[in-house]
Amino acid sequence: MTNIDHTHSLAANTWVPCEGERNDFPIQNLPWGVCEKNGIVVAICDQAVVLRKAIDDGKLQFADDIACALKDDSLNAFMSLGKDTWKHVRHELFSMLSGEPCPEVLCPIASLQLIVPAKIGDYTDFYAARNHATNVGKMFRPDSDPLMPNYLHLPVGYHGRASSIIISGSEVRRPHGQLKPDDSAPIFAPCKLLDYELEFGAFIGSGNAIGNRISMDDATEHLFGLVILNDWSARDIQKWEYQPLGPFNAKNFASTISPWIVTIDALAPFRQPGPARLEGDPAVLEYLLPMADDVFDINCCVSISSEKMRNEHVASLQLTKSSLTNLTWSFAQMLAHHTSTGCPMKSGDLIGSGTISGETKDSRGCLLELTWRGTEPFDLPDGTQRRFLLDGDELTIKAWCESDGATRIGFGACSGIILPAN
Ligand code: CA
Repeated sequence: MTNIDHTHSLAANTWVPCEGERNDFPIQNLPWGVCEKNGIVVAICDQAVVLRKAIDDGKLQFADDIACALKDDSLNAFMSLGKDTWKHVRHELFSMLSGEPCPEVLCPIASLQLIVPAKIGDYTDFYAARNHATNVGKMFRPDSDPLMPNYLHLPVGYHGRASSIIISGSEVRRPHGQLKPDDSAPIFAPCKLLDYELEFGAFIGSGNAIGNRISMDDATEHLFGLVILNDWSARDIQKWEYQPLGPFNAKNFASTISPWIVTIDALAPFRQPGPARLEGDPAVLEYLLPMADDVFDINCCVSISSEKMRNEHVASLQLTKSSLTNLTWSFAQMLAHHTSTGCPMKSGDLIGSGTISGETKDSRGCLLELTWRGTEPFDLPDGTQRRFLLDGDELTIKAWCESDGATRIGFGACSGIILPAN
């Protein structure tokens, strides 16, 4: 693993006080965020380095273009500087945080109003986990092969809506939409089958000019980092609208991301070969042939709580435990395919993985699959049942990486509470 260096060492330590073994943000992580008042920040334990302050105080020293990008109010300019600059800045941050203490450049994370960390120009959502695609195919097309003929040949995706991407903690309003009851004409009403989708998002760091392709050789190096993504979905709107052009209003009211971008550099110890193909799968075409370490071994889990449970301090119920190793297509393959026509990607664009479902029931990444379209409801500790999300429900996704010989790093949380339709 050529990308591993002293910043990933188990022995690395910081002068910032870090309590507890489950700390998501040890010095080996250094994820990026943006807050409303202070601009760009980097998390360390329960604190955040304010880049403007650290640069103005001379604790971090960079060439003018880098310093200017780091003092901006979004990460786009820094992302556009490319992988060598990202690594250089990571090394400088590591030196500062493991060297002479300078607590004046820190702010407690709890005091920050974190915002979407980049101006997202374009957002594309894929459908890259075959177990999710297979389950959905079985439900909606029970008489045919659950996977469409193209599924194992190319990463299927659709162009989403960047304007509705919101930060963790933002409320999610139940959408209205056109619904088609089985026994009547279409109606316009609040969505009744509101769902979540456990996904990951990849921020594009350096893009490509129109007409140029990004090849598998360096596709991962164009990625700046990853976030947790919840692609809230209105299943009843989706069912009526999706043919022939795919999802539209079912997906454009809110998609929530976690606030901290964990960089590809920080994920170096958690990369694996793959994605694995199963026996009998067709070979992928050459432009999608994976490299040796395209897969990220990231664990994720989903939990739910009702308003009543939170009021009575009842612990949330875990719904799903999954892993990014369940993706049939890697982010590198998604990016290589996306740009295979010469489609330009820009710094700050976001690509979503699609729902990350595994083979077992407890690894299904949405309620559509977990309750099998509502036919297998489950009980909450407050005595109520769920087929789909009700008003007041809070959904939280957490994610982390751990492996022998590496320090555990985490992504924090991606959560949202459902508000009634208005
Ligand atoms: Ca999705």
